[in-house]
Amino acid sequence: MSKENKQTSVSELGEFGLIERLTKDIKIKNASTIKGVGDDAAVMNYKDKQVVVSTDLLTEGVHFNLMYAPLKHLGYKAVVVNLSDIYAMNAKPTQITVSIAISSKFSVEALDELYAGIHLACETYNVDLVGGDTTSSLTGLTISITALGEVEKDKVVQRSGAKVSDLLCVSGDLGGAYMGLQLLERENEVFKVDNNMQPKLEGYDYILERQLKPEARMDIVAIFEKLGIVPTSMIDISDGLSSEIMHLCKNSALGCSLFEDKVPMDNQTKQMAEEFSINPIVAALNGGEDYELLFTISLDDYEKMKNDPDFTIIGHMTEAAEGVNLVTAAGSSIPLEAQGWNHAK
Ligand code: ADP
Ligand code: MG
Repeated sequence: MSKENKQTSVSELGEFGLIERLTKDIKIKNASTIKGVGDDAAVMNYKDKQVVVSTDLLTEGVHFNLMYAPLKHLGYKAVVVNLSDIYAMNAKPTQITVSIAISSKFSVEALDELYAGIHLACETYNVDLVGGDTTSSLTGLTISITALGEVEKDKVVQRSGAKVSDLLCVSGDLGGAYMGLQLLERENEVFKVDNNMQPKLEGYDYILERQLKPEARMDIVAIFEKLGIVPTSMIDISDGLSSEIMHLCKNSALGCSLFEDKVPMDNQTKQMAEEFSINPIVAALNGGEDYELLFTISLDDYEKMKNDPDFTIIGHMTEAAEGVNLVTAAGSSIPLEAQGWNHAK
């Protein structure tokens, strides 16, 4: 069991050697990519499609903790969170650029790991890595990813298109990534106090994966296409259901009724919430990083989607004057924003 553990410093390879090493195996997958890594700029051709662009910036210690987030997972997640924004426009992601600032504590082998995750996400989502930038940092790691995607002109879905009585729907289940984070942080604290303590993570693989290796809902956009549905508005759930509903309502100038007992949650999420004495609905409403899609569809499309197990109808849109409300399991209606955390008590 002799595992090769040689750590090469970035200065041994130099900036250009490092870029070459991290990008040498890239094979272009999309017809819209004309020229990828290796020139002053990448070249794309989207023909008559509309192009959507989204950027995210992740900083060590703020957005991720390398104590429990493996670099490969981090690379994968950094790509996925960007692709999620592209899907939220009902578009198909086609290219990304990756920019990194690295301190001297990161070896070439560590960056190989980060890029293994980045390349894996590109394979999984059929996206081309077409460029980026590399620089040094005094403290830790910063990753910025820009994603580009394409969509037919009449299929672009913004946050602003919802209408009164549209159905409010969500993909997958919510709150899992937040409860996974709570578990990781608790076990990390235990480990800091006693290095001999093994983290107790068994039985919680689903919520850990939701936190460490989330997926973007590529399948949902494909299902819309198959069912012939164009949502009237859409957003991805990165900050928690409550906040994203507010965005849809504000941008569409509407109110909404959200039904507490309709919000989909996995059993592991509920179980972990119970361990932490958190009401699980709070994890769904205010936890973040679920990367599910929240969207509205016209009542006319209800027949097309009613038997599809990939979506859950969780409410409906109302006039703005009615406000944004959570209808509790007991049947009372509470303003959503003021609600949130207090409900846990
Ligand atoms: P410039 O001097 O114009 O910034 P670079 O030497 O930084 O050029 O980049 C050379 C090529 O490598 C470009 O195609 C650039 O997009 C790409 N590149 C640079 N850094 C990265 C990175 N971290 N990941 C992927 N591609 C990169
Ligand atoms: Mg550069």
